[in-house]
Amino acid sequence: MFGKYTEQEFQQKAEAFHGHAAPGVLLGAFLVEAARARLPEGCIFDAVSESRQCLPDAVQLLTPCTFGNGWLKVMDLGIYAVCLYDKQTGEGWRAAVDPEKLKRFPLTREWFLKLTKKKDQDGDALRREILEHGAEMVAVRKIQMHPEELARRHKGPIAVCPVCGDAYPAKHGGTCLLCAKGRGYDLL
Ligand SMILES: [Zn+2]
Repeated sequence: MFGKYTEQEFQQKAEAFHGHAAPGVLLGAFLVEAARARLPEGCIFDAVSESRQCLPDAVQLLTPCTFGNGWLKVMDLGIYAVCLYDKQTGEGWRAAVDPEKLKRFPLTREWFLKLTKKKDQDGDALRREILEHGAEMVAVRKIQMHPEELARRHKGPIAVCPVCGDAYPAKHGGTCLLCAKGRGYDLL
Protein backbone atom coordinates (compact mmCIF):
# COMPACT_ATOMS: atom_id res chain seq x y z
CA MET A 1 0.00 0.00 0.00
CA PHE A 2 1.05 3.56 -0.74
CA GLY A 3 -0.97 5.72 1.61
CA LYS A 4 -4.57 5.09 0.62
CA TYR A 5 -3.65 3.49 -2.72
CA THR A 6 -2.91 -0.09 -3.64
CA GLU A 7 0.23 -0.71 -5.64
CA GLN A 8 -1.76 -0.88 -8.86
CA GLU A 9 -3.78 2.26 -8.10
CA PHE A 10 -0.60 4.15 -7.32
CA GLN A 11 0.98 3.07 -10.61
CA GLN A 12 -2.12 4.33 -12.45
CA LYS A 13 -1.99 7.63 -10.55
CA ALA A 14 1.70 7.96 -11.39
CA GLU A 15 1.00 7.32 -15.07
CA ALA A 16 -1.75 9.93 -15.13
CA PHE A 17 0.25 12.56 -13.24
CA HIS A 18 3.86 11.93 -14.24
CA GLY A 19 3.30 10.50 -17.73
CA HIS A 20 4.52 7.00 -16.91
CA ALA A 21 5.13 4.85 -13.82
CA ALA A 22 8.77 5.93 -13.61
CA PRO A 23 10.99 3.85 -11.31
CA GLY A 24 11.94 7.12 -9.58
CA VAL A 25 8.33 7.88 -8.70
CA LEU A 26 7.84 4.33 -7.36
CA LEU A 27 10.99 4.47 -5.26
CA GLY A 28 10.02 7.98 -4.18
CA ALA A 29 6.72 6.61 -2.91
CA PHE A 30 8.60 4.32 -0.53
CA LEU A 31 10.62 7.28 0.75
CA VAL A 32 7.48 9.35 1.33
CA GLU A 33 5.71 6.48 3.09
CA ALA A 34 8.72 5.70 5.29
CA ALA A 35 8.87 9.29 6.56
CA ARG A 36 5.12 9.76 6.85
CA ALA A 37 4.53 6.53 8.76
CA ARG A 38 6.71 7.92 11.56
CA LEU A 39 4.86 11.24 11.93
CA PRO A 40 2.20 11.35 14.63
CA GLU A 41 -1.39 10.69 13.56
CA GLY A 42 -3.04 13.88 12.29
CA CYS A 43 0.25 15.77 12.08
CA ILE A 44 0.14 18.78 9.73
CA PHE A 45 3.42 18.59 7.89
CA ASP A 46 5.57 20.24 5.25
CA ALA A 47 7.87 18.43 2.83
CA VAL A 48 11.30 19.08 1.39
CA SER A 49 12.44 17.10 -1.63
CA GLU A 50 16.22 17.15 -2.01
CA SER A 51 15.92 16.17 -5.67
CA ARG A 52 13.88 17.91 -8.34
CA GLN A 53 13.49 14.70 -10.39
CA CYS A 54 10.56 12.32 -9.85
CA LEU A 55 10.55 12.60 -6.06
CA PRO A 56 8.47 15.81 -5.94
CA ASP A 57 5.74 13.99 -7.87
CA ALA A 58 5.69 11.12 -5.36
CA VAL A 59 5.21 13.73 -2.60
CA GLN A 60 2.41 15.42 -4.53
CA LEU A 61 0.65 12.11 -5.26
CA LEU A 62 0.77 10.83 -1.69
CA THR A 63 0.51 13.88 0.57
CA PRO A 64 -1.41 17.17 0.72
CA CYS A 65 1.91 18.93 0.02
CA THR A 66 2.19 20.42 -3.46
CA PHE A 67 4.72 22.75 -5.02
CA GLY A 68 1.95 25.25 -5.69
CA ASN A 69 0.46 25.32 -2.19
CA GLY A 70 3.87 25.97 -0.73
CA TRP A 71 3.91 22.91 1.53
CA LEU A 72 6.49 21.22 -0.69
CA LYS A 73 9.90 22.80 -1.13
CA VAL A 74 12.00 21.38 -3.95
CA MET A 75 15.78 21.61 -3.70
CA ASP A 76 17.94 20.93 -6.74
CA LEU A 77 20.59 18.89 -4.93
CA GLY A 78 20.29 15.66 -6.91
CA ILE A 79 19.99 13.73 -3.64
CA TYR A 80 17.20 11.18 -3.49
CA ALA A 81 15.86 12.02 -0.05
CA VAL A 82 12.71 13.59 1.35
CA CYS A 83 12.06 15.33 4.67
CA LEU A 84 8.59 15.49 6.19
CA TYR A 85 8.22 17.58 9.34
CA ASP A 86 5.61 19.03 11.66
CA LYS A 87 4.87 22.58 10.48
CA GLN A 88 4.72 23.89 14.06
CA THR A 89 7.56 22.13 15.85
CA GLY A 90 9.87 21.31 12.94
CA GLU A 91 10.26 17.74 14.20
CA GLY A 92 10.22 15.13 11.50
CA TRP A 93 11.92 12.44 9.50
CA ARG A 94 14.26 12.25 6.53
CA ALA A 95 14.03 9.21 4.29
CA ALA A 96 16.83 8.57 1.80
CA VAL A 97 17.84 5.80 -0.58
CA ASP A 98 20.70 3.94 1.11
CA PRO A 99 23.38 2.87 -1.42
CA GLU A 100 24.63 0.27 1.08
CA LYS A 101 21.20 -1.41 1.19
CA LEU A 102 20.98 -1.33 -2.61
CA LYS A 103 23.76 -3.93 -2.79
CA ARG A 104 21.07 -6.58 -2.28
CA PHE A 105 19.02 -5.25 -5.19
CA PRO A 106 21.21 -5.26 -8.31
CA LEU A 107 18.66 -3.95 -10.83
CA THR A 108 17.77 -0.98 -8.67
CA ARG A 109 21.41 -0.35 -7.80
CA GLU A 110 22.50 -0.33 -11.44
CA TRP A 111 19.69 2.01 -12.38
CA PHE A 112 20.03 4.29 -9.34
CA LEU A 113 23.81 4.67 -9.60
CA LYS A 114 23.58 4.88 -13.40
CA LEU A 115 25.90 1.89 -13.87
CA THR A 116 24.09 0.60 -16.96
CA LYS A 117 22.71 2.42 -19.95
CA LYS A 118 18.97 2.88 -20.02
CA LYS A 119 18.62 0.74 -23.17
CA ASP A 120 20.32 -2.18 -21.38
CA GLN A 121 17.92 -2.02 -18.43
CA ASP A 122 14.86 -4.23 -18.08
CA GLY A 123 12.29 -1.64 -17.03
CA ASP A 124 9.62 -4.11 -15.98
CA ALA A 125 12.02 -6.18 -13.85
CA LEU A 126 13.37 -2.98 -12.30
CA ARG A 127 9.88 -1.78 -11.40
CA ARG A 128 9.06 -5.19 -9.93
CA GLU A 129 12.17 -5.14 -7.78
CA ILE A 130 11.33 -1.67 -6.51
CA LEU A 131 7.69 -2.55 -5.83
CA GLU A 132 8.66 -5.72 -3.96
CA HIS A 133 11.63 -4.39 -2.01
CA GLY A 134 11.47 -0.59 -2.05
CA ALA A 135 10.89 -0.41 1.70
CA GLU A 136 14.17 -2.30 2.27
CA MET A 137 16.18 0.29 0.31
CA VAL A 138 15.39 3.22 2.57
CA ALA A 139 17.32 4.75 5.48
CA VAL A 140 15.28 6.96 7.83
CA ARG A 141 16.63 9.47 10.35
CA LYS A 142 14.92 11.81 12.75
CA ILE A 143 15.37 15.51 11.99
CA GLN A 144 14.76 18.85 13.66
CA MET A 145 14.25 21.71 11.22
CA HIS A 146 16.03 24.98 12.01
CA PRO A 147 13.67 27.75 13.20
CA GLU A 148 14.43 29.95 10.17
CA GLU A 149 13.12 27.16 7.91
CA LEU A 150 9.76 27.26 9.71
CA ALA A 151 9.30 31.01 9.35
CA ARG A 152 6.68 31.85 6.75
CA ARG A 153 8.17 33.70 3.84
CA HIS A 154 6.22 36.73 2.76
CA LYS A 155 6.65 38.34 -0.61
CA GLY A 156 6.44 41.84 0.88
CA PRO A 157 5.62 44.95 -1.16
CA ILE A 158 5.19 44.65 -4.92
CA ALA A 159 6.70 47.02 -7.48
CA VAL A 160 6.21 47.34 -11.24
CA CYS A 161 9.38 46.81 -13.25
CA PRO A 162 10.35 50.01 -15.13
CA VAL A 163 12.01 47.92 -17.88
CA CYS A 164 9.47 45.18 -18.73
CA GLY A 165 6.32 46.29 -16.91
CA ASP A 166 5.76 43.07 -14.92
CA ALA A 167 4.89 43.21 -11.23
CA TYR A 168 7.64 41.79 -8.98
CA PRO A 169 8.65 41.71 -5.29
CA ALA A 170 10.12 45.15 -4.54
CA LYS A 171 12.81 43.60 -2.33
CA HIS A 172 14.51 42.29 -5.50
CA GLY A 173 15.72 45.78 -6.35
CA GLY A 174 15.17 48.44 -9.00
CA THR A 175 14.07 46.00 -11.72
CA CYS A 176 12.62 42.47 -11.76
CA LEU A 177 15.15 39.63 -11.57
CA LEU A 178 14.59 38.68 -15.20
CA CYS A 179 15.58 42.17 -16.34
CA ALA A 180 18.48 42.19 -13.89
CA LYS A 181 19.87 38.75 -14.75
CA GLY A 182 18.56 37.97 -18.20
CA ARG A 183 15.92 35.51 -19.32
CA GLY A 184 16.11 32.27 -21.31
CA TYR A 185 13.99 33.58 -24.15
CA ASP A 186 13.55 36.66 -26.32
CA LEU A 187 10.35 38.64 -25.90
CA LEU A 188 9.05 39.10 -29.45
ZN1 LIG B 1 11.54 43.44 -15.67
